[in-house]
Amino acid sequence: MSRDRVRRSLVRVFIVHMRCLMCKSGNMEATGDTRTNDDEALMYTHKCDLCGYYEYLAITYPYKEVIQIDAENQAEPITPNTIDRLGL
Ligand SMILES: [Zn+2]
Repeated sequence: MSRDRVRRSLVRVFIVHMRCLMCKSGNMEATGDTRTNDDEALMYTHKCDLCGYYEYLAITYPYKEVIQIDAENQAEPITPNTIDRLGL
């Protein structure tokens, strides 16, 4: 039965930000534009959400990082009660 093959893992999701080099307070946000650098590598245009500084980065920020934190509750759906019990 396919239900027996379903596993669930508890995860935490982080939003990874890149701080601005110039003002050191703002976060770099991908504008959607790209260009290639001198090595022909694709670079993503970013603009600081505070001071407007532009930078070209190899990956886009912000991005989501998903970390598996619990492999023991594989068969247990994540409910508000589960979250409370784990102290999250
Ligand atoms: Zn800035």
